[in-house]
Amino acid sequence: MSRIAYVNGRYVPHAQARVHIDDRGYQFGDGIYEVCAVRSGVMIDDDPHLDRLERSLREMRMTAPMSRAALKVVMRETIRRNVVNDGIVYLQLTRGVAPRDHAFPKAPKTQVVVTARNAKPHPAAFVEDGVKAVTAPDIRWGRCDIKTIALLPNCMAKQVAKENGAYEAILVDEKGVVTEGSSSNAWIVTGDGKLVTRPATNEILNGITRLAIIEIARREGIVFEERAFTLDEMRRAREAFVTSASSFAMPVTQLDDAPIANGKPGTIALKLRAAYLQHMAAQAGAAA
Ligand code: PMP
Repeated sequence: MSRIAYVNGRYVPHAQARVHIDDRGYQFGDGIYEVCAVRSGVMIDDDPHLDRLERSLREMRMTAPMSRAALKVVMRETIRRNVVNDGIVYLQLTRGVAPRDHAFPKAPKTQVVVTARNAKPHPAAFVEDGVKAVTAPDIRWGRCDIKTIALLPNCMAKQVAKENGAYEAILVDEKGVVTEGSSSNAWIVTGDGKLVTRPATNEILNGITRLAIIEIARREGIVFEERAFTLDEMRRAREAFVTSASSFAMPVTQLDDAPIANGKPGTIALKLRAAYLQHMAAQAGAAA
């Protein structure tokens, strides 16, 4: 089956999908994006994702290309045309095509690209054994709360992970405090059983999965603390995991060359993962 991409009002074969070389996304990384999980053909948490997209638009002083309802129609149609069952839908908005100049163009026309694809389920071993993470210095800018397509530091950190046989890179600031993963939010369970993730400031992206997991943890009565934690604390944690729209909640059992606790996925991480799968199944079921 051939893939279809949505590009500025048209559904085109993926292989022929094009943007102009003067697109500011291509020139400057001047754009934003969202990735939503798709389960049984249904977008998961689409409203929270679009809330965050609208926030990114405001912070970037970009104009919405169409209404939220219209964006949802395009995303759903892209999912349908690509026959996506379980996978992701990707939405990218850039400030538009203009002669190369750092300052914003006078009358920018936001460019829209949407793609969707099926994704293989995570290998069972990832969940049963947990995954390895490596640490990398967080060399990003001061507005990590904006979901920008300018992801070079994140790509460099993920490459370090890949070259070391790891699933994710955990970013650490110059004070030795964990910020987040290169494409995920980071969590620990402390020795005394408290679930901890850092508050959503400018230093991290406020993950939509993060928000859903906080909600689930509250509902399940898990003791939860929103605060920054150090790399040292993470190394000594009882459990660690990362969350994102494509990882859900993924237990981390090795950090650099040392196991976390006994090197087995923690009970809270697995409980939250199961509840998050339920959270997705409920939305997929409700739409059926
Ligand atoms: N932090 C970063 C840097 C990310 O790239 C992502 C995933 N895009 C996340 C956190 C997790 O966000 P979400 O749960 O919305 O996928």
